Amino acid sequence: MEPASPENNWRWTRVALLAIAVAAPLLGLYLSRSNLILALAPIFLSHLLLLYATLVPNCSWWGPVIQSFHTTEPEVWLTIDDGPSPAHTAKILDLLERFQARATFFVIGRRAEEYPHLITEILSRGHEIANHTYTHPSGTFWAAGPARIFSEIDLCAEFLRSTPDRTARLFRAPVGLKNLFVHPELSRRGLALIGWTVRGFDTIRRDPVLVAETILRGARAGAIIVMHEGHHLEKDPDFNPRCLELILSGLAERGYQCVIPRPEQLRTRAAGK
Ligand SMILES: [Zn+2]
Repeated sequence: MEPASPENNWRWTRVALLAIAVAAPLLGLYLSRSNLILALAPIFLSHLLLLYATLVPNCSWWGPVIQSFHTTEPEVWLTIDDGPSPAHTAKILDLLERFQARATFFVIGRRAEEYPHLITEILSRGHEIANHTYTHPSGTFWAAGPARIFSEIDLCAEFLRSTPDRTARLFRAPVGLKNLFVHPELSRRGLALIGWTVRGFDTIRRDPVLVAETILRGARAGAIIVMHEGHHLEKDPDFNPRCLELILSGLAERGYQCVIPRPEQLRTRAAGK
């Protein structure tokens, strides 16, 4: 029997959520014979629980979400989403080299297919490539069925596997949203779902200092930092690299090194908790 641990709790919460999803309408039907308002309560509450599990990025109720990594050193894991980007990837790689930092790039399959030389460049400079779906359907992935999830993961993975000597072992859902169908598909493929410890909301904010301050405030040993590339290109073409430069500089001042953790270091609970 597997030992009880926070990493295994998700099995029970998943079963409980599915049981509630089935039981709530039956209970509502039973209660509707006496009071219609009362009958709606279990249905409303069950929907709230299902939405929470689905729409809160680091929630592990549907399955494990990696939120930090184990280390005794002053190390953080820098992850960069939504590339590769012809406007940013080369600048980001130069910044990483300048600060002797390593990073994992969660790339969108369609963009990787369009700019294969950038994938080669990322890998040849010592960084890691990971799966961030093929089309990045940020508005619909949370509600996608198994077939859509299957194709988003596999189309991206198919392309990443074509990169010599590398198999992407990590997956991040678009904007971190995942539903009950995502984890079974990931575990069939041996992929881990990666969340984060801290984010700077760099897809929404326009002030790089604010983005950097938020991330540096949340940085601690074993933290997963999420950044983006290829955003704000029209209004502020250098926004993403400027954010990264401030963050790398701030991390260096605080003595943190950006590393790529080994699989056995990955943890489902956030660093410092
Ligand atoms: Zn993304």
